[in-house]
Amino acid sequence: MEVIKSIYEMQAFSRGMRSAGETTGFVPTMGYLHEGHMSLAREAKADNAKSVLSIFVNPAQFGPSEDFAAYPRDMAGDLEKCERAFVDVVFVPDAREMYPDGFSTHVDVAGVTDVMEGIRRPGHFRGVATVVLKLFNIVMPNRAYFGQKDYQQTVVIRRMARDLNLDAEVVVMPTVREPDGLAMSSRNAYLSPPERAAAPVICGALLEAKRLYDSGERDAGVLARRAREVMGKEPMVELEYAEVSDAETLAPLREVTAGAVLAVAARIGKTRLIDNILL
Ligand code: AMP
Repeated sequence: MEVIKSIYEMQAFSRGMRSAGETTGFVPTMGYLHEGHMSLAREAKADNAKSVLSIFVNPAQFGPSEDFAAYPRDMAGDLEKCERAFVDVVFVPDAREMYPDGFSTHVDVAGVTDVMEGIRRPGHFRGVATVVLKLFNIVMPNRAYFGQKDYQQTVVIRRMARDLNLDAEVVVMPTVREPDGLAMSSRNAYLSPPERAAAPVICGALLEAKRLYDSGERDAGVLARRAREVMGKEPMVELEYAEVSDAETLAPLREVTAGAVLAVAARIGKTRLIDNILL
């Protein structure tokens, strides 16, 4: 396994892969790796000649009052996990090289960012889209792997890839969960033991709404209300939103006809968690 820190070296590797006609599978991450990330890394390795995983806590996607400084980091542990998943290259760029003085170009994906996380975290998707485009230009992947856990992010990236003719296939992989249903997240490390014990109610609420959908309920308001009710029973969990949207456009739905996603965000103490389920 190779660890590459400079953009120049990473691009040299990527150019070599492209000119040899070999495929690269890419997994962008912010590190503190868990089984969710590793499922993407294994898929990238299985589908391509080489896999590249990046670790970069991207300052541009955190708001001024968010957890950039506190975001968990464990480079030694992450490298070990990558080694075990047979990752070929770990790309660990430096923030000053990614955002040098005078940096002033950003990617704004309109429409699909006007709902859910886009409203609650102003500037977040601008930071995400900008860094993902930069990483695509550096890693030049044939395929890039993202988790369904961050559903709106997958829609934003797909939209950008189409709109800007990016030469990479965007692959979305299912959410990996703890045995009790909690979606794996680097931010789960913030939870105190009682908070951790309360957290599975988020997934429980999604499953309960899905059960209602499976039994024939199609009213989006009723489904979202059900999720809210379930979470309301857990006093430690403060729901931010529960919304049923079109799975492709993220337009809010009144009635579930075709593919839809129920997405939620909740706070447990100081930790903000998101999750979703496809209907
Ligand atoms: P992050 O390090 O949180 O930016 O996540 C990097 C990638 O891993 C993103 O595409 C996430 O959607 C994905 N990911 C995070 N958690 C999970 C999970 N529990 N299951 C599947 N993918 C995940």
